Amino acid sequence: MVSRVIPVDPFDLVIFGATGDLARRKILPGLYRRFCDGQMPPEARIIGAARTEQDSAAWRAQVVEAIETFLPASKRDPSGVKAFCERLSYVAVDATGDAGWADLKGEIRDDVVQAFYFSVAPSLFGALAERLHHFNIARQDARIVVEKPFGRDLATARELNATLATHFNETQIYRIDHYLGKETVQNLMAVRFGNTLFEPLWNSQYVDHVQITVAEEVGVGGRGAYYDKSGAMRDMVQNHLMQLLCLTAMEPPARFEPNAVRDEKLKVIRALDPVPPEHIVRGQYKAGAQPSYLQDVENTASRSESFIAMKLHIANWRWNGTPFYLRTGKRLKARKSEIVIHFKETPHSIFDADAGNRANVLSIRLQPDEGIDLRVTIKEPGPGGMRLIDVPLDMSFADALGPEVADVPDAYERLIMDVIRGNQTLFMRGDEVEAAWGWTDPIIAGWEGRGDRPVPYEPGNTGPEEAAILMHRDNRRWREI
Ligand code: NAP
Repeated sequence: MVSRVIPVDPFDLVIFGATGDLARRKILPGLYRRFCDGQMPPEARIIGAARTEQDSAAWRAQVVEAIETFLPASKRDPSGVKAFCERLSYVAVDATGDAGWADLKGEIRDDVVQAFYFSVAPSLFGALAERLHHFNIARQDARIVVEKPFGRDLATARELNATLATHFNETQIYRIDHYLGKETVQNLMAVRFGNTLFEPLWNSQYVDHVQITVAEEVGVGGRGAYYDKSGAMRDMVQNHLMQLLCLTAMEPPARFEPNAVRDEKLKVIRALDPVPPEHIVRGQYKAGAQPSYLQDVENTASRSESFIAMKLHIANWRWNGTPFYLRTGKRLKARKSEIVIHFKETPHSIFDADAGNRANVLSIRLQPDEGIDLRVTIKEPGPGGMRLIDVPLDMSFADALGPEVADVPDAYERLIMDVIRGNQTLFMRGDEVEAAWGWTDPIIAGWEGRGDRPVPYEPGNTGPEEAAILMHRDNRRWREI
């Protein structure tokens, strides 16, 4: 396969929070990879900004250390890192004060794309937007990138949208959800809308149910205090799983362009039925070789969930009668994210009952090993009569397209380049985020009103038994984690 990297326009990208965890782990190593791939034109500059007083040389040394820590040796080389660092400079800036802003203004050019990445605590988003405006730093077409969490309920999301809207148009605001930057998620759209094969079957007449799983092996780790204020519903379902659900369930947009896609996603959220309590299972992992959830968050009275499974209905013509099962949790058996479409069995089997008729399953793996797999039923080869087996029609990218595709840009790399290109398709619009919170809030209010407690579950497995029962009641089973 021939690599077709198209350089983006020259840009100034300011990373607020340049010394923080996200910048070190994802943003800067990602930018370095785009640089190595030739996607960054010679005039592109990256400006780090945070409160820490240091010069550009000190920050560059931190960036080198971050690249060496977070990228495998096969994906970096010393001369490349040195050349990349020549694009970097640093300005000490306080988001909540006046220090450093005049210096920052001096660094920004007027004749290139301007982008400002808010990789700081959400409580600082408003202050940054305000000061970018006050010090006349951001042009009318400058872009801002906003990290999650975007609010903690509808009221705070609305407030944040209103604050940003004071200084920036919606076309300038890029709310990032890195799940949308994954290659397979975009491939989901290519598979659905680029083939005649799937779309006619993509409805309740042919789809029995859909499962969306985001399973993690790790616990809450050092993020306990933060995580305990959110729980899995706010931290994962309202944003990441909801986005995956929308892309799976949406109507075909008229064009693959930002507002056409986002309009269709919004309609899915608005069509979600309220979820009765018996369709939700929440859990907290118990202690095993490692501490329990309650020990991790240092709050024995915590009612936040580290696991959630739920059954949803989308009340529209396409999906009437097809449940969507969502599940996410920590300290599970493995790290695995996938969207799985379970098609219905054939309406009538011409084979003997013991031949083993099976239904088709299309699975879209996000991690690990991104790829798409369709299981089809065939005759088991050889003698012994008509016995049926299901075999994968595997569309693993690396196998099909050569080893280069195993090297596709990671989600952050792709999304940052989309910001520079001015393409908002894979970013959440303000009304989408508000609609998602509008659906989430009453569910959480219900738990709080009833005083519901998550059930404990064994670590290293598939979550609470009650989640399996949720499926058994419908004569279905979760996929293996
Ligand atoms: P972090 O490690 O705490 O870093 C915060 C950054 O903000 C530091 O560079 C800090 O540097 C800077 N900062 C703090 N106060 C400031 C101020 N008043 N003015 C200017 N800069 C200030 O946080 P993080 O983990 O990188 O997270 C950043 C954002 O990304 C958050 O919104 C988080 O929710 C989101 N996020 C993070 C991850 C992740 O994996 N880390 C994943 C998804 C989303 P100084 O102390 O030098 O000012």
